[in-house]
Amino acid sequence: MSGNRTFTMIKPDAVKAGHIGAILADIAAGGFKIVAMKYTKLSAEKAGEFYAVHSARPFYGELVDFMSSGPIVAAILEKENAVSDFRTLIGATNPADAAPGTIRAKFAKSIGENAVHGSDSDENAAIESAFHFAGTEIFS
Ligand code: ATP
Ligand code: MG
Repeated sequence: MSGNRTFTMIKPDAVKAGHIGAILADIAAGGFKIVAMKYTKLSAEKAGEFYAVHSARPFYGELVDFMSSGPIVAAILEKENAVSDFRTLIGATNPADAAPGTIRAKFAKSIGENAVHGSDSDENAAIESAFHFAGTEIFS
């Protein structure tokens, strides 16, 4: 996969709070094109696998419980410099530190329940996209 794609999830807190539409509007306004999208729910096992890199962290159990607590929206987004520009659009992990106007500043509740996920590298964007989508579900 080229460096112009990133992977995102609208997390269970933001879905529950009714923010799917507003977050997708911010993503579109940020210049990202949606090339794949689904409304789905992660099992605890799948959430654990997705965030396996954090398995040694003290918040891992909480993170897995939260990410499997309700439906999410998973999507692949296309834009030049997608990974880095999307991290800028969503803001810092902790909404208290997120720049004004960013998605996390507007919609996140806490460092744990922080509204959206964004891939942190081109390599992980490809891995995370393949975790959620078959090639036949991606339309560029
Ligand atoms: P994400 O990977 O979800 O886009 P991120 O890259 O900004 O978020 P990471 O360090 O990868 O942040 O952490 C993954 C997720 O784990 C965070 O988004 C958050 O939901 C949760 N998390 C991170 N740090 C904490 C913490 N100190 N306490 C509780 N949950 C945390
Ligand atoms: Mg991360």
